[in-house]
Amino acid sequence: MNKMNRFINGGIRVLKKCGANKRKKNMKNNMKYKKDFSTNNIKGNINENMEVIRRIMEDGIMDKDLDKYNKDSTGKYIGKAKIVLKPKTTDEISKILEYCNAKNIKIIPQGGNTGLVGGCIAEENDIILNMERMNKIISLDEKTGIMICESGCILENLQNFANDKDFLMPLDMGSKGSCQIGGNIATNAGGIRYIRYKSLHANIIGLEAVLANGNIINTIKEIHKDNTGYNLSHFFIGSEGTLGIITKIAIQLYIKPKSVNLLYIGVKDFSSVQQILTLSKHHLSEILSAFEYFDKSCLQTVINFHNLSDPLSSPHQYYIIIETHGSCIPHDEDKLQSFFESLNNINSIDAILSRSIHDSQKIWNIRELIPESLKHTCPVLLKYDISVPIYFIPSFESYLTDTFPFTSPFFFGHLGDNNIHLNISLPFAYSSSISSISSSIYIWVSNHSGSISAEHGIGISKKPYLHLSQSPHNISLMKSIKNTLDPFNILNPRLLF
Ligand code: ZN
Repeated sequence: MNKMNRFINGGIRVLKKCGANKRKKNMKNNMKYKKDFSTNNIKGNINENMEVIRRIMEDGIMDKDLDKYNKDSTGKYIGKAKIVLKPKTTDEISKILEYCNAKNIKIIPQGGNTGLVGGCIAEENDIILNMERMNKIISLDEKTGIMICESGCILENLQNFANDKDFLMPLDMGSKGSCQIGGNIATNAGGIRYIRYKSLHANIIGLEAVLANGNIINTIKEIHKDNTGYNLSHFFIGSEGTLGIITKIAIQLYIKPKSVNLLYIGVKDFSSVQQILTLSKHHLSEILSAFEYFDKSCLQTVINFHNLSDPLSSPHQYYIIIETHGSCIPHDEDKLQSFFESLNNINSIDAILSRSIHDSQKIWNIRELIPESLKHTCPVLLKYDISVPIYFIPSFESYLTDTFPFTSPFFFGHLGDNNIHLNISLPFAYSSSISSISSSIYIWVSNHSGSISAEHGIGISKKPYLHLSQSPHNISLMKSIKNTLDPFNILNPRLLF
């Protein structure tokens, strides 16, 4: 038995034996471990540890040109990791975690690194575990539509694969070309079609994950109904890499829609937007697959920055994109007709209907280019991802204008899900106001039955505000779950609370 195996077996002894006396002793040992591991001290020196990791992984160890892994997509958070591991198998991850757990080496799980809350930023002695090489599609059952794949698959590749087989991935978002499905699940990403296909909690049928001690959990059964105790998959959805490394998933695909329509609407006020949302739910009901909105400032920024033209001939205060997915063109046309008739009571409305992929893509482009255009044109940009009941949005707009008259707010997002991606542009001279603006916004949202994070997660950036969306008892339970699954806090140790 070589040195590594001896060590790993020792680790198993501490963590896994479960006879009554031994359990008592192990609890004592665990307490001792916890005490030792409450510090950031790594056991053993870096060279010894890397020697062991090199024996676990044949290749996929990087120690230079790590900027892309150390910088998040906002550019706000810069990590300091000196090692990035790119495992190829669940077994490798299991051995790495078992070793790192015993040595108190912190692991930062990373997918496509497209998050917006500083969710995978490493300190100097941490190791980044990047999942990009675990990118195989394992199977698709064309009778059930259940696809099994590894967690490092790029979302767009899964969408294309599904499309070629006449299926549809339920998840879609602007970062689809680089985000990975494992990261999507770890952050419980929402995206533009949540209103129709619901959350990943609804569509993930099961998953495989590696716990901090190296144990592998597998809940994949390829069936929907399995009411046998706690649903362990749900612990990992939205866990932000703090409870385990997701390695494999089973996801429900949908039949590719045969009838797709896109409406682009301009209106003069927010009350018209609200009315149209209600009418679309009534008249389009089950075929409504997206309801997005943005204000005129967003549209102007995109048009100016990308030199595009507005598909509508006259300017409006708010713009709406409505998409429908159906299986029968005449049926959907009837529904759209009844929806159009219902819009007759709304004043100053302008709308176009697109059925061609090319025209629809031009409209979707406007929506998808908003974050990037703002990033490049605003001196200081603050990004918020909040949920509030839709009837509070006008008073929220007034609150921002009255309280922070020196800012320029940009409203856009998945209005059908009450989810706004509020972006605020700030002159450089007011940079010192950032934290007071953020706390005021989060307090306002909390006081109006909202959430401080609709779909981006907590990460590092929203950690000080978690208590505004979760009660002390809830946070305490979350901490207990973390402590049970990762008692030495090696997985993404600085997130959430
Ligand atoms: Zn979004």
